[in-house]
Order: sequence, then C-alpha cells, then structure tokens
Amino acid sequence: MSRTLGMLEWCAGWRMVRKFARMRSVVVAIAACCVLSVAVLAGEYESAKSVILMIGDGMGTGQIEAARWTLVGEDGLLAMDHLAVQSGWSRTSDIDGSVTDSAAAATAMATGQKTMNGRLSVSLTNDSLVTILEMARLRGKSVGLVTTVPLVHATPAAFAAHAPNRDKFLSIAVQLIEAGVDVLFGGGAQYLLQFRETCECGWSGWRADRRDLVVEAQLLGYTFICNQEGLASLDTDSVDRVLGVFANAEMLRPLVPTLAEMTTAAINILSRDPDGFFLMIEGGLIDWVSHYNQADAAIELTIGFDRAIDVALDYTRGAGDTLLIVTADHDTGGMQAYHDERDTSREDGPFFTPGGSPFFVDWLHTDHTNADVPVRAEGPFAALLSGTYENTRIFDVMVTSFGFGTGNQDSAFTE
Ligand SMILES: [Zn+2]
Repeated sequence: MSRTLGMLEWCAGWRMVRKFARMRSVVVAIAACCVLSVAVLAGEYESAKSVILMIGDGMGTGQIEAARWTLVGEDGLLAMDHLAVQSGWSRTSDIDGSVTDSAAAATAMATGQKTMNGRLSVSLTNDSLVTILEMARLRGKSVGLVTTVPLVHATPAAFAAHAPNRDKFLSIAVQLIEAGVDVLFGGGAQYLLQFRETCECGWSGWRADRRDLVVEAQLLGYTFICNQEGLASLDTDSVDRVLGVFANAEMLRPLVPTLAEMTTAAINILSRDPDGFFLMIEGGLIDWVSHYNQADAAIELTIGFDRAIDVALDYTRGAGDTLLIVTADHDTGGMQAYHDERDTSREDGPFFTPGGSPFFVDWLHTDHTNADVPVRAEGPFAALLSGTYENTRIFDVMVTSFGFGTGNQDSAFTE
C-alpha cells in the first residue's frame, strides 16, 4: 500500500510542476500516472502467475552460514539473503513427529499434507494426494522439475509421482515421464534406459522391463539431452518439452551443467507460457555430502545452489508476477561453523573467508535433524511465509498465491 501512496503523491507533485504546460500534455500525464498507480496497487494484491520453489535438500543454518562466510564473509550477503521476506521458519517432522526424510518433507510441501517417512505424495491409507505441480498443470500452466540427484529421488518425485515406497525408482520413473512435466532436468539415466542400453552420453540402463523411457518421452514430444553441450545448444525460444539427464545416478562435482545453468534454461522455457508456470528446483546433493560430513563439498554445493537462487531472483524481480520461495526440506548433520577458540573438536577446516579469516566446522552426526529450517520468499503473498509454521504451510501459501483457493486448512500455523 505504501508504494501506491508514494506513487499517488509523486503524481500530484509532478502535476504541480507541469501546471503551465499545455493542457493536453497534462491530461495525458495524469492519465498515465493513474494507470501506473492502479497497476502498482494491483501488483500488491494480484495472484502470482508463476511460482518457483527452491529446496536445498539438507540445507540447514550451518550449511548456509559456512557458504556465506566462504563466498562473501561474515558481513556479506548471499543471493538468498536478498529475498524480501527473511523471517520464515519451517518445522519439518513427519506426521508422527519423527525426524523427517525427504519423502515426507517433500510430500508436505507438494501437497499440504503430512505423511509417514518413505511415502511420496500418498496418505497413510495410500490415497494419492494432489500436488501443487498437478494443480498448476491442470490449470494450463507449464511445469518443471530440476535437481542434481536422480529425478526419481524423493524431492522431485513427490511433486509428480505417488508411491507408498520412495525406493520404487523404476515405477516412479514411468510416472514422471507420463506426468506431463514440461521440463525435467537432473540425474538418473539408469532408471530410464533399458538394461545394458547406452545413450549417446554413455549413460547405461538398469530397466529389465524392456521399456526405454527416453524413446517413450521422445514419442510424447520431449527433446532429449544428456550433457552440457546439449543444454547449451537447446533453443529455449521454441522447445516446449525437454528431458535433460546429466548423469547415470547423481550428478558428480563439479556439476556440469551447473544448477544455475539448468535453472536459466528451465525458466527460459517455462516462462514463455502466457498462463505462467510452476518450477521446483532442488539442490539435492547438499544432503548427500552432509550425510558424509563433507564440509568442503557442502559449502561448494550450497554456493552453487545460491547461484541458482540468484538466477531465479533476477527473473522474479523482472517479471513482477512470480512468487519465489527458498527453503530446505530438513537439516542434515547439524553442521555448525565457528571462528572462536572454544573447546570444540574442529572436525573440519580451516576454511577461509575472502578476507583470510579462518573458521572451522563441527557436525552433530551423519543423519537428518529435527531443527527448523529457514524460509525466504519474495513476490505475491510472500509475507504469509513470515513466522514459524509446519512445512505444509508452504503448500498453502503457493496455492493462495496462485489464486487456486485457500490450501490445506488443516495445517498448523503459529506466528
Ligand atoms: Zn538425507
């Protein structure tokens, strides 16, 4: 509202300055000011045309802090630190209060419903739960999933597949290819190709059911790419459906292509849809390396995720009609960065800030924790993500921002 009032005041002042100008110019100028004011007012309250949800898998406060100190120092800001809303905290436990896995957490964010660990967008009675991606697609929006781990893994899979067991990778792969997802970028070629079949990039298949999901995808209209050159040569101005598989299993470090490059291509393709889009981008490997307490890799991958956030934030600010959410599904490892000389074990380090100041990293253990994770957001209805709430709230806000309804009314919410 304040921006609108400011615009009206500016218009009034401008009219005074121009009072001796020719009457026709003044009329045109006043009309332009009023149109602009209405547009600004509408921008405050209109639904989001598009939503970008970015999930750093296992990215707790320790991973973020160590990445910040490494890239820009203690007083610097990461790209994620620039989002307008910085004050969200998501509670991550599964339906019975256990420390979550990625399947239950992704289900909560994708469907607004808590479920048990291991389940992908199904209820306790194995009923499929409609996901935000499916809701967007049914309303004519383009949809996409981008990750650095196999596409069939829990976080991306929960948005477009339904399974009581997250490990049924071969059947989940079929669901993903048949779900009508316009952009699929990630790893996991082995789950798409036939046993002993090899694609042009050297990835080889595990499937024993005689199905070649790459060929099936091409028959459904997908362009198939499998390396950075393929991504770079993609005509994002004309291609509608792309299956990009850049590793047999998870992508290896250093990531080629980078998550920022995948994000750029995905946004370029999806944003051509006049109806808007839904895009989920996962920094999936942050969790994997944190399970091994590899601080150097966790820092590198969190910085890579932040560079993808920079791409998405740049698009969001240019578009003006997109809700961008940056969060994690859970913390992994209880990573903690510190400078001082306390009696700590200094398990990893020293690492250095750009100014040369050393710091160290300790870990709590090698599994997920139940720590709340930060939520940052910008765009229509982003303010609803301020406060502390269950992770289902993220689904609720996406639904509200899209104008699809009020979301899951059952989700607990405390300010
Ligand atoms: Zn994990």
